[in-house]
Amino acid sequence: MDCLFCKIAHGEIPSTKVYEDEQILAFRDIAPQAPTHILVIPKEHIASVGEITEANSKLVAHIFEVIPAIAAREQLTNGYRVVSNCGADAGQTVHHLHFHILGGKVLNTEMA
Ligand code: 5GP
Ligand code: ZN
Repeated sequence: MDCLFCKIAHGEIPSTKVYEDEQILAFRDIAPQAPTHILVIPKEHIASVGEITEANSKLVAHIFEVIPAIAAREQLTNGYRVVSNCGADAGQTVHHLHFHILGGKVLNTEMA
């Protein structure tokens, strides 16, 4: 499958990794929108939030168990935002599930 984040997950395209285990990978966004901008992905291909099911949601739970540890390591003690764009209206550009971790500054409070 021609999926950018599958290639990153399998090491075929390099990334700046900040966390990795058997199931998930976290790496720095190539075009950061905040001083800290990290993407967390499952290694298994899931297209978006719209594809989360009972069969794969443990992976998503695992991502959310790891996010606080990543935030702590990045010293985001003053807070951070977790975002996932799903589909065209949200502006999803990479169709492999990913959660943005944004922090390191006071973020824009506009949500939409
Ligand atoms: P989306 O717009 O789908 O929510 O987020 C996709 C994100 O992936 C964007 O923030 C974009 O900067 C990032 N991105 C796109 N291509 C690459 C890449 O090759 N490497 C890394 N590290 N990030 C990428
Ligand atoms: Zn993929």
